[in-house]
Amino acid sequence: MSDVLERFIRYVQVDSQSDPLNEHETPSTARQHDMARLLYNELRELGCEDVRIDEHAYVTAGLPASKDCDDLPPLGLIAHVDSAPDAPGADVKPHVVHYEGGNLVHGVVNGESIETSPGQVPDLELFVGQDIVCSDGTTLLAADDKAGVAEIMALLARLKADKSLVHPEIRVAFVPDEEIGHGASLLNLNEFGATWAYTVDGEYLGQFSYECFNAADAVVATKGNNHHPGSGKDILVNALELLHEFHAQLPKEEKPEYTDGYEGFFHLHTMEGSVGQASAYYILRDFSSEGMERRKQAMRDAAQAINERHGEGSVELKIEDEYRNMAEQFGDAQFLIDNALEANRRAGIEPVVEAIRGGTDGAQLTFRGLPCPNLATGGYNFHSVREFIPVTNLERTVDMLVELVALFAQPQRS
Ligand SMILES: [Zn+2]
Repeated sequence: MSDVLERFIRYVQVDSQSDPLNEHETPSTARQHDMARLLYNELRELGCEDVRIDEHAYVTAGLPASKDCDDLPPLGLIAHVDSAPDAPGADVKPHVVHYEGGNLVHGVVNGESIETSPGQVPDLELFVGQDIVCSDGTTLLAADDKAGVAEIMALLARLKADKSLVHPEIRVAFVPDEEIGHGASLLNLNEFGATWAYTVDGEYLGQFSYECFNAADAVVATKGNNHHPGSGKDILVNALELLHEFHAQLPKEEKPEYTDGYEGFFHLHTMEGSVGQASAYYILRDFSSEGMERRKQAMRDAAQAINERHGEGSVELKIEDEYRNMAEQFGDAQFLIDNALEANRRAGIEPVVEAIRGGTDGAQLTFRGLPCPNLATGGYNFHSVREFIPVTNLERTVDMLVELVALFAQPQRS
């Protein structure tokens, strides 16, 4: 069994699921400490330096640069220790299936066979005759992101064992609560000490992402004038109608259900209220700053029109930025993209650049000043009991990481 597979099988059996209902605490679940402590001990056994663990279950460590690479900027690699709350995450029983084609059978649960068909995941045909790791169908596999953790750990072990492999100082961070949106928030970037970094948290081999949405949210509050409806003529103002009027002014086709690729949207997420007052919560998403500005302006215009029609104060609008598109913040660090693509090619993997229609840990870190695109783990069907990862994908991702760190074993030109 390869080192990365052995690690992966072991790590997924440590339950470290996060809990959105306890998001005000980090980690949101005490069990994430179990995974953090395990990694802390293994990093020390591996001979890493500056191995740290904190009360929030963040683990950081460094592997010193190879010979003659001391002067190069440290490269960061990041994965998250929590697993998704979307499906059961305790008591994961990983098993290796030798896949012969057709439906991939994860397990049988209460007499029902849990399967993934090639129609659902066309890539399955790439793995005919190969070994695939699945759960037994009752739980997540937690390849998201134990695969990333195992791949980074296996990389460190390989660099440690083979002195012919060149690399700058490698800084690693294993973070909690990514799945509930808090993975990066408490990572101390000074202590982490990387100049640039990658998260290893994507899916199929070759997938690479450095663009994500700019994100803002908006709260629209309307004020009505409640009056007996029987005698309400020219007196009654209905806050719900105002909200309706506001919404009707936004572009009708720019909604999640009508957009994909690089298109942004306005998404009405929540509405509540009655005649007297009402409010709506929107999220705004756009890949470009100008596009985001246009969306904000459309909301301001809609609010202003209603205030002109019904009186100042009828609508109040509050817009707040959440996160930014990473791609707009790399500045001259184009080599972060080039090196990732080249590392994939050198490992025999055709890279596929995919814009993320959401946010990532990396987006938050990039916003805080640590440029951080996202590399693939090789897994499929994340957040589901049908999650799986081919053994070769685990191994080839480690090969790709070896190529990547070698590309950083020289000064970077922007
Ligand atoms: Zn993940």
